[in-house]
Amino acid sequence: MDLILRKANLPDGREGLDIGIAEGRIATVEAGLEASAPKEIDATGRLVTPPFVDAHFHMDATLSYGFPRVNASGTLLEGIALWGELKPHLTAETIAERALAYCDWAVGRGLLAIRTHVDVCDDRLVAVEALLEVKRKVRDVLDLQLVAFPQDGLFRSPNAEKNLLRALDLGVDVVGGIPHFERTMAEGARSVARLCAIAAERGLPVDLHCDETDDPLSRHVETLAFETQRLGLQGRVTGSHLTSMHSMDNYYVSKLIPLMAEAELNVVANPLINIVIQGRHDSYPKRRGMTRVPELMAAGLTVAFGHDCVMDPWYSLGSADMLQVAHMGLHVAQMTGAEAMRQAFQAVTVNPARIMGLEGYGLEPGCHADLVVLQARDPVEAIRLSATRLVVVRRGRVVAETAPLKTSLKLEGRPASVDYTGPWRDGVPEGR
Ligand SMILES: [Zn+2]
Repeated sequence: MDLILRKANLPDGREGLDIGIAEGRIATVEAGLEASAPKEIDATGRLVTPPFVDAHFHMDATLSYGFPRVNASGTLLEGIALWGELKPHLTAETIAERALAYCDWAVGRGLLAIRTHVDVCDDRLVAVEALLEVKRKVRDVLDLQLVAFPQDGLFRSPNAEKNLLRALDLGVDVVGGIPHFERTMAEGARSVARLCAIAAERGLPVDLHCDETDDPLSRHVETLAFETQRLGLQGRVTGSHLTSMHSMDNYYVSKLIPLMAEAELNVVANPLINIVIQGRHDSYPKRRGMTRVPELMAAGLTVAFGHDCVMDPWYSLGSADMLQVAHMGLHVAQMTGAEAMRQAFQAVTVNPARIMGLEGYGLEPGCHADLVVLQARDPVEAIRLSATRLVVVRRGRVVAETAPLKTSLKLEGRPASVDYTGPWRDGVPEGR
C-alpha cells in the first residue's frame, strides 16, 4: 500500500474502516487492515468522503467582484449587464489567473471536480481559450468540465451560435444555453431544440440555464424533457436552476415531473444564488424561488446543489465551500428530516459526480483514491459545522491539509476548550 487511512467513518454510516490505497486507486476498504504503508492517517471518528463536486459554476467570472463596479441592486439582470461591461476588458491572462486562484481554494476545500459554464458570446472567445488552458494546468488535482454558454442568448446575440460551435470545436465538453433570455417563449423553445440537436449530432451532454425566473409560465424545461426524449439523449441532459418550477401551478407540475423523470433529466439547483436572486419583484410574501428539490429527488431524478457564483457580478460571497452550499440548500428546501439532511450531502458529492459522468468516483475498491477527511463524524455534522477539511487526497497523494479547528475557552469553572461536535449522530441524539 502507498497510503492507509485508519478507522474512518463513511458517508453511508459504516464506521471504523481502514482504507488502503495503492497506485492512485482504492485497493481495499475493511476493518483492521493488516498491511502497512509509508504514510498512514489516523481518521478515528472522522468522516472520510469522496471529494465534493460542483456541477454548476462560472469560472470565467469568479473573483471579479467589484470590477468595474459592484452590483448595486443585487439582481440577476444588473449582474448580466455588469458582466457585459466587464467583458470587453477581459484578457485570457486575467481570467486564467483568477480561475487558478479559485482552483486553489477548491482543492483546499476538497472540491475536486467542477463543471463550469464559459461565456461564448465574446467573439474573441478569450474565456474559452483561458479556461481550456486552466483545465490542462489543473488536471492532476481537479477535474474541470466546460460548458459552452451563450450568456446573451443563442438567437438574441448575433454570433452566439457560430461562437458556440467554435467553442465545441476547440474542445469544450458540454452544450449550454439560456432559453428564458431569448426574446420570446417561442424563440426560447427553438433554442432548446437547436441546442439539443447540436448535442445529439456531436454526442455531447447538454446543460442549460433553464427557466431561471419567477415567471410560472416559463416552461422551457418541458421542451427540454421533450427534446431529450425525442433525440434519445436520456441521462445526458441537465436542467440548471429551474426556478420557475417554484412558482408553477401544482397541477401542471404533477404532469411535468413525471415527464422529466421519463427523460431522465438531471437537475442542478443553486441555493445560494436562487435565494438571493429570485423573488426580487415580490413585496411580501417573498418567494424563495429554488426549484422543487425534495419532490424531484422523490421522483428519482438526480439532483445536485451547485455553487454557481463566488465573488462575481451576481454574488459577492462564497469560498468554494460546498458544505455551505448544502447548508443553504437544506434550509431553503426545508430538508431537515434525518434522511433529507443526508440527501443534501449527496447533492454536493455523489449526485453531481453522476451528472458530470465522473469515472471512478466513490469509495469502493477500484475507484480513484480521491477523498477528503473531515473534522466531523458524519455528513449531517459536516454540513452543520461546514467542517474543516483536515486532509484532501487526490489519486493517492495528499494535496491539501488544514489544521483542526480548536477554540480555547477562558472561563472559570468551564472546560479549557470547546468541542463543537455534538452528542448527536446523523442529526439524531445518540442512543436512540
Ligand atoms: Zn449559472
